[in-house]
Amino acid sequence: MYNVWENVLAEIEQKISPANFSTWFKDTTLLSTANDHVIIGVKNSFFVKQLRSKFLDLITEALNKNNINFTTIDFEVVSSTKNKIRSREVTTEDSIKNYIRPIKKSLETKTINNGLNSKYTLDNFVIGSNNDLAVSAAKSIIDAPGTRYNPFFLYGGPGLGKTHLVQAIGNELLRRDPSLKILYTPISHFYSDFIDAIQNGKGKEFNRKFEKLDCLIIDDFQFIVGKEKSQEEFFNIFNDLYQLNKQIIVTSDRLPSQIKTVDERLASRLTMGGAFDLQLPKFEDKCAILRAKAELMGAEIEPEAIEYIAENINTNIRDLEGEFSTILLMSEVRGLTPLELIENGSASINRTNKLRPVSSKQILEKVAKFYDLSVKEMCSKSRVANIKTARQIAMFILSKELSMSTTKIASEVGVKDHTTVMHGIKKIESDLRLNFALRDQIEEIKEQIYG
Ligand code: ADP
Ligand code: MG
Repeated sequence: MYNVWENVLAEIEQKISPANFSTWFKDTTLLSTANDHVIIGVKNSFFVKQLRSKFLDLITEALNKNNINFTTIDFEVVSSTKNKIRSREVTTEDSIKNYIRPIKKSLETKTINNGLNSKYTLDNFVIGSNNDLAVSAAKSIIDAPGTRYNPFFLYGGPGLGKTHLVQAIGNELLRRDPSLKILYTPISHFYSDFIDAIQNGKGKEFNRKFEKLDCLIIDDFQFIVGKEKSQEEFFNIFNDLYQLNKQIIVTSDRLPSQIKTVDERLASRLTMGGAFDLQLPKFEDKCAILRAKAELMGAEIEPEAIEYIAENINTNIRDLEGEFSTILLMSEVRGLTPLELIENGSASINRTNKLRPVSSKQILEKVAKFYDLSVKEMCSKSRVANIKTARQIAMFILSKELSMSTTKIASEVGVKDHTTVMHGIKKIESDLRLNFALRDQIEEIKEQIYG
């Protein structure tokens, strides 16, 4: 998290005079981003006032650019910021009274209670040969929820637009009829809420929350794996809603019949309203998506640059977007147009068309060697900064080059569980945005892997 702050600061540094930067920002730290709540550590209360009155928009913009989601910003006075970070995690409760206005609606428009995020709309979902059937089903659901495609089962690999499309259905239904009761929830939240409710003796209330819904949207159903009790609970809720002709929408990375631990009856029920898949976008689809994003952002990018990105990113739309924003950001920072960057070789895209197959063992060896470590040291529990970073880079490369699952990566690099891996990969991804030295290092490691 603290490296993310460095990126944020780098962003801010571009925008103000060196004197201003060193006066106001040099000693700031990011204390927490938990619960969509950003807390920034400052030296004394004078800073709070100044940062708040002069630089809030700037900070907001820089946080947004670094993909930090938040609805509020607080400042907290910390006597010695560094000690504080080491001594404990600062929580929201610890934060001061220097509460700042909620960030404007246009920046982050999340509604907490129904799980819908208004940034996902049908208008900004580009229709192509990879998703047209699913989109037309989505449109008929919007016209007549609970009738034709019920349940609506949407599946496909990561980053292909499942969350976007089902959120867009929810948002559009609500726009047309604000009285509708809609709930979007990833299955993992459903599960943890359910367990909480049971533990607190509130099982009935949990049930009641669902009874009243007009539309239930469950995301990432594949994570139901092995959770028998919540599967049963879900099945009951499903049946109740279905009988009342309420719309049910479920996404997953695969068909229910391919999820081992899903009860057969539930599996067949889930797809009886029709199963639709999202596929990898073709070249034309990718170009169309990038053109739409450029227009939305008001960014200028040459058609050749768009084609170059589309041609080189073959994984999914999330990666396509990621590469696109990185190139736009680099072009801003370096003062070159996207095409110029590509032509002078600074925008070398992580090629997903692998040159030849490599093993995870080879990857671990090359990363460790590059950082002068043994594989054993790198894959230890050590929290020494350079060892930890090397480990995270290994996770990142395993994930990108071998498309390995986070659980598998966890066992390869000897960390506790897949969330540590997810965190590690995210960390590297965010560092890569502005840390050009790191980009070069990773390129070099890859050359050694494939070379
Ligand atoms: P999934 O849930 O399948 O993993 P997401 O819905 O999170 O994927 O999509 C990943 C990113 O790609 C999101 O930022 C989303 O807005 C974007 N995206 C996916 N499909 C499209 C599309 N057809 N048009 C525009 N953006 C898209
Ligand atoms: Mg998703």
